[in-house]
Amino acid sequence: MAHLIKQNLKFEKFELPIDEAIAKEKESGEIYKQELIEDLKTAGETTVSYYTVGDFTDLCRGPHIENTNKIVPGSFKLNKLAGAYWRGDEKNKMLTRIYGLAFLTREELGEYLTMIEEAEKRDHRRVGKELDLIMMHDIAPGMPFFLPKGMIVLNELIKFVREHSYGEGYREVRTPQILNSELWKTSGHWGHYKEDMFCIHHEEDNAVLGVKPMNCPAHMLIFKRDIRSYKDLPLRIAETTTLYRNEKSGTLHGLTRVRSISQDDTHIFTTSDSLLEEISKLLDKIKFIYKIFDLKIDEIHLSTRPESFLGEKEDWDKAEDNLKEALRKAELAYQINEGDGAFYGPKIDVKVKDVIGRQWQLATIQLDYQMPQRFELEYIDEDGKAKTPIVIHRALLGSMERFLGILIENYAGAFPVWLSPVQVKLISVGEGHISHCQNLAEELKSKGIRAEVDSNNETVGNKTRKAVNEKVPYILVIGDKEMESDKLVVRDRGSRETREIGKEEFFEEVVSKINNRN
Ligand code: ZN
Repeated sequence: MAHLIKQNLKFEKFELPIDEAIAKEKESGEIYKQELIEDLKTAGETTVSYYTVGDFTDLCRGPHIENTNKIVPGSFKLNKLAGAYWRGDEKNKMLTRIYGLAFLTREELGEYLTMIEEAEKRDHRRVGKELDLIMMHDIAPGMPFFLPKGMIVLNELIKFVREHSYGEGYREVRTPQILNSELWKTSGHWGHYKEDMFCIHHEEDNAVLGVKPMNCPAHMLIFKRDIRSYKDLPLRIAETTTLYRNEKSGTLHGLTRVRSISQDDTHIFTTSDSLLEEISKLLDKIKFIYKIFDLKIDEIHLSTRPESFLGEKEDWDKAEDNLKEALRKAELAYQINEGDGAFYGPKIDVKVKDVIGRQWQLATIQLDYQMPQRFELEYIDEDGKAKTPIVIHRALLGSMERFLGILIENYAGAFPVWLSPVQVKLISVGEGHISHCQNLAEELKSKGIRAEVDSNNETVGNKTRKAVNEKVPYILVIGDKEMESDKLVVRDRGSRETREIGKEEFFEEVVSKINNRN
């Protein structure tokens, strides 16, 4: 590539009639290119394009830059080789894939490589294993096992969700995980989403059942159970029950792409009059929540009415105006993806940046005019007439599994105190100090602090190193001196120094960090 750049070569495009192109590749023995072009022919293409640079010509759709002199030396890199089945199919031959990176400038490549290096160090699959949070097993691909420490973090997240993602006015429910296919036919999942569902044939009932990939249809049934009045709206039904999705095995990735997921999921049944207020409340929550986790809102996308859509144009216009108005009021910059909404409603997507600059898609607020109709949902309005509510599907953290994966990487495993599985580690110097450690641990636990004693017969240095690797926020070493004093000697995470602090004062400090989630 360096050689090509120096030669100032033009990238030149030419087109060939498709049969000529097939003959050309066949003659040169390029069986894979021949196969690709034959497929293009089947798909109705009549010509294909090629690019030539120097004495190299290859099939390419383009576009290309004009000339190799536009490429900055050092702004690209070949970074990886991997075996790959031709067209991703394991029945085909294994080929070698060469991966490359290209940026406009050398600096951008440098920044990207640093970010990748940092990301590898933080990889949640490795860190999650080292910290005993999760395990994966071939017996259930894509379905994480939460170990005791991982469960503590997950439970803290669920507690957080109940307080802040749900909060006042939300009603939590729990609906069955396995539901008759009749429900999935009504919701439309059977027609559009069946491939992604796990299905069970129930012999005794002679029925096909679907394991739920989403909560919405079950929540529609809950809405439908009672006669609803406009006074009951907005009705916010929340659920964190685990869902199952038959993701392709090749796409599975640790916690961030899984087959078993639990979301901070809610369906808000509302009138169009309350839409603006509901969306505004959700945006306020989003602003509040991500700050707590050191995630920066990076991009917000508003996807609007596509060409074919369900419902009335005026309703869409009003809904889109409400979404824009809510974003404006929340002082959130956004971009519009014109015509990119689902046919059943517009939506807002929120992307955040983590501390090493990677972007993650988290919150979704999706309006839905269709599902309430499919389930024939109604409420009695002020004028005594039956009307169809609008449904807002919303998840702010998204999948809790994925969110935990993101957090592990965002914090490099060093969770803030409130999320740490072990908040204080007590290390006994000798045999004689163990019971004092245990008493102190009991005292800490009684204040709601998660404490663990390391009374192993090892050196203090070893035990401290282990606690440091476990990323425990506070380490207390207890020996003769500490037993006699009413002061504690604390080593804070990330510090090599220790500090002395009164016992009560220490309790207060930790409890306040837990309560403030800072
Ligand atoms: Zn939903």
